[in-house]
Amino acid sequence: MALLDIKLYGSPVLRKNCKPVTKVTPDLVALAKDMLDTMYDGGGCGLAGPQIGKAIRLVVIDTTRPDEGETPEPHIMFNPEWGVEPDSTDVPYDEGCLSIPDIFCNVVRPGKVWTKFTDENGQEVVLHNCEGILARCIQHECDHLEGKLFVDVISTADRTMNQSRLRDMAKKAKKGE
Ligand SMILES: [Zn+2]
Repeated sequence: MALLDIKLYGSPVLRKNCKPVTKVTPDLVALAKDMLDTMYDGGGCGLAGPQIGKAIRLVVIDTTRPDEGETPEPHIMFNPEWGVEPDSTDVPYDEGCLSIPDIFCNVVRPGKVWTKFTDENGQEVVLHNCEGILARCIQHECDHLEGKLFVDVISTADRTMNQSRLRDMAKKAKKGE
């Protein structure tokens, strides 16, 4: 088990359009497992490549709560894509991000999605009718691969309320680069 350094809001890598993974290698699978450890340690349910400084299309997700005794159900997702299911409705949810600690804001997103990705064995996987936290996580983590963050789409009121904290975070990240 290895814990990786999480890049914080203001780090340039979080704004990169990430590169596709052309081959699932043992090194990348090991990296994904370290990302899962890092995610569990941080109490998150998803982590994307740029958050640990790698601008590659790799996402890990686990929406179970191992810290509350649930059996982990980790997903390692290379080159993930997603789309909205026909009977989806938009839902609000207070989102957070391991790269933007202690800020939680309402974001409205589709409530039911499909996702397609390559797993750790190099197999293509398609999951339909993902709902709840899983649907939320898939969209949030895939946004990271496009250099998008949830604070980009929050309300003006939420933005105003968190502006100085975000500015401080960005300043600190700049110093650390
Ligand atoms: Zn995030």
